[in-house]
Amino acid sequence: MTPPLYRGRIAPSPTGFLHLGHARTFWIAQERARQTGGKLLLRVEDIDTARCKPAFAEALYEDLRWFGLSWDEGPDCGGPFAPYIQSERMGFYRDLLERLRAGGFIYPCRCSRRDVLSALGAPHAGEEEPHYPGFCRPKPGDPIAPLGLQNVHWRFRVPHGERMTYTDGALGDQTAVAGVDFGDFVVWRRDGLPAYQLAVVADDAAMGITEVVRGADLLLSTFRQFLLYRALGFAPPAFYHAPLLVDPATGVRLAKRHGALSLRALRARGAEPEALRQEWT
Ligand code: GLU
Repeated sequence: MTPPLYRGRIAPSPTGFLHLGHARTFWIAQERARQTGGKLLLRVEDIDTARCKPAFAEALYEDLRWFGLSWDEGPDCGGPFAPYIQSERMGFYRDLLERLRAGGFIYPCRCSRRDVLSALGAPHAGEEEPHYPGFCRPKPGDPIAPLGLQNVHWRFRVPHGERMTYTDGALGDQTAVAGVDFGDFVVWRRDGLPAYQLAVVADDAAMGITEVVRGADLLLSTFRQFLLYRALGFAPPAFYHAPLLVDPATGVRLAKRHGALSLRALRARGAEPEALRQEWT
């Protein structure tokens, strides 16, 4: 049998202007798709309505193109496209939430992030989801709760102690232990929106993605996502986690708050995309 055509994706969140770190990851994604004669999709991950702004979404297309990126499917691709904008796909995510609930994979939780952090004695919230101590985790034999409860989020019950392994395209063999390296994680938020973990798995599966290329900050989430693929009966794609760019002056990871390295700011200062790309090779 011939292997399926490579389908990769770039999946920015319009919570700020794109910076050089995003551009490099997206460039790698594009190269991998082009080298295999495959397709590259653009998906706009704009579920977090409080943080995503239309102005950033509009800037996105322009910044991607300026940098030399193009995509075969998705918004602004120059042809017809399926709705690859997450805020337009809520019904689909809700159906998957119901599947997870009916299968007994998730449970409602009333603990806030602050409750979790204070229980853990953590001084501050990092970017990684804190390890949930399981206060709301049902006991064996408890009935499955219905959807529609107010003011709860839904957590995925991870199989404690399960050792998970996979080979990453960039980083090689990876291992994590469920319940040790990460705890029960949120799949649906109390504000009525799907969490990143669920939406990304739903979409990568529905869009037939064969390899996910993204930043190494999401490496641990890959294990959470493997559990969701399994619970939903979807075949997972391959994963390639690109090492993160760090600021050469400070050694600090580039993030959106480093406004000076936004593609917009670089362009305004006369930077050329080709020269920027050459610094990585
Ligand atoms: N939208 C996510 C971000 O901008 C990327 C998610 C992913 O590639 O899985 O961080």
